Amino acid sequence: MPLGVQRVESVGAAAKLLAATAGSRWLAGGTLLIREVNAGDTAVQTLLMGDGLGLDRIEIAGTKVKLGSAVSMAAVTAGRELEFLRPVAESIGGPAVRNMATVGGNLFAPYPYGDFAVALLALGASVTTVDSERSETVDLETFLQNRQRRPSIVTGVAFELPPTGAFRFVKVVRRKPHGASVLSIATVLPMTGRKVAGARVAYGAMGPMPMRARPVELALEGKLLDAAAIEAAVNAAIDGCKPQSDPQASAWYRLQVLPVHLKRLLAGEA
Ligand SMILES: Cc1cc2nc3c(=O)[nH]c(=O)nc-3n(C[C@H](O)[C@H](O)[C@H](O)COP(=O)(O)OP(=O)(O)OC[C@H]3O[C@@H](n4cnc5c(N)ncnc54)[C@H](O)[C@@H]3O)c2cc1C
Repeated sequence: MPLGVQRVESVGAAAKLLAATAGSRWLAGGTLLIREVNAGDTAVQTLLMGDGLGLDRIEIAGTKVKLGSAVSMAAVTAGRELEFLRPVAESIGGPAVRNMATVGGNLFAPYPYGDFAVALLALGASVTTVDSERSETVDLETFLQNRQRRPSIVTGVAFELPPTGAFRFVKVVRRKPHGASVLSIATVLPMTGRKVAGARVAYGAMGPMPMRARPVELALEGKLLDAAAIEAAVNAAIDGCKPQSDPQASAWYRLQVLPVHLKRLLAGEA
């Protein structure tokens, strides 16, 4: 069957077509979707696309950040306000991939991808979607768990800028500088006085999709970020993790090295 391409004039129209047309998919940067098509995936029958829908905007008002789903990794690295996210965006593919790869597409990226989503999880981001009936905003964790269930268009993500220095990120790769993840870790550790208040820790490639590391968050919450708290966090590092084996690393290896990298990140040595 030939591949169809349909242009849409609005996100609402795209959402209706997505629900009504079997085998239709929204085309964002295409770094994954076009690869699937080129590999002969016949499940993809119609590509939906639209320009000028306003999905490529970055809006920063005070501490509130909104990224349209079509914002590219290259656009994230271009602005000074989002400098803390530069290491995340720059870890995704080479320059050609980053010019096309979008924030929205990253939320659908299969294992071990999804590094930007890991950072967004640590930032406590929400996701806004439009389906054939309504627009909805949910937290990213809920979105990731349900992303395959109902056809919808992601219009953007929103989060609060973290306090200066509170965001940390590390991505472990076999092939430097731009290999796929052995694992990635993002943390936001805001401090009240000298104690951690509102810890958020997220992992990539340690489960089927980007995940919160709640046992680690619990171990850090309300504590001084000292050797004892870091040891407690590291002891809880792999709780709930179910990594997969792939060409980057075995599941066993991922479980072995995660605590080492978490310890370095928390100690500021990553
Ligand atoms: C060489 C190479 C290296 C890569 N390295 C990395 C890496 O290191 N880390 C990483 O995380 N990823 C990596 N990727 C994967 C990919 O580039 C990124 O995850 C990227 O962010 C995907 O975005 P996209 O816009 O290209 O998605 P697309 O390919 O356009 O879409 C992917 C899927 O998401 C759906 N989708 C996209 N946007 C929306 C939306 N707004 N609403 C609803 N559905 C949507 C599409 O329908 C499709 O099913 C790499 C890819 C390549 C080719």
